[in-house]
Amino acid sequence: MSQLAESKGIILSSRNYKEKDKLVKIFTESAGKMMFYVKGIHRQNQPLAPALLPFTEATYIGIGTFKNEGLSFITSVKDVHAFRHIQEDIFLSGYGTYLLNLVDAAIEDHQYDPHLFHFTQLALNRMDQGDDAEIITNIFEVQLLQRFGIAPIWTHCVVCGETQGKFDYSSKYGGVICEKHWDMDHHRYHADPRAVYFVRMFSAISYDKINGISLKEETKQAIRQLIDQLYEEYVGIHLKSKKFIDQMKSWEHVLKVPEKEDKPTTEDEKND
Ligand SMILES: [Zn+2]
Repeated sequence: MSQLAESKGIILSSRNYKEKDKLVKIFTESAGKMMFYVKGIHRQNQPLAPALLPFTEATYIGIGTFKNEGLSFITSVKDVHAFRHIQEDIFLSGYGTYLLNLVDAAIEDHQYDPHLFHFTQLALNRMDQGDDAEIITNIFEVQLLQRFGIAPIWTHCVVCGETQGKFDYSSKYGGVICEKHWDMDHHRYHADPRAVYFVRMFSAISYDKINGISLKEETKQAIRQLIDQLYEEYVGIHLKSKKFIDQMKSWEHVLKVPEKEDKPTTEDEKND
């Protein structure tokens, strides 16, 4: 029995299958992550082709309900939207691929997760519109920890409740501890307090509030180190796309604009 179903979706990955076909993994809004089988994709004028490119979202229409196990088929598409800048820019593609690989790792097939769907869509949109890809990625990583079953306490010192000042991350306490209590955990991360400051902010920020954030390269590196440490300890996945963005760091400076000052929000500017 077949049944017509449709859902918005974001392409997660695709690979060739046999000579002319493709297996396409799509994060659908209505039924989570699913694998689709598309026949004859390498034929000329295959109308589905543009909707199956990396960094594309569309409404995918298929035979077989989206809730079925196994492969599904796509018969047509509508409302195709390509994230063009991400598709065309090697740096953005690098960050975008990593972000989608993280989504793929964080959820099971057919796991309904509209919140993560919209979060992913928003992250790609912001990246495509020119917001800082590293900051978008960092926010994504920090907030995605929850999908891996980890919920560190970022809002206050786990020992005394302090919310202001310098903090470090403690695995022992499962959250941040303030400077007064650093001696309660000698194995704390010894992270750069500026990195902890921004990761605390990133854990609660929404993408529409990131406009005014711009960070010095040094601060970005410290944040990268802290998030890497968290992922190493709690998530333990090693994605090729992550390795790629780490390596990208060594050659991207050739094309980079001069250093900026750290600027947490636009609020200060407005008050000036
Ligand atoms: Zn404290």
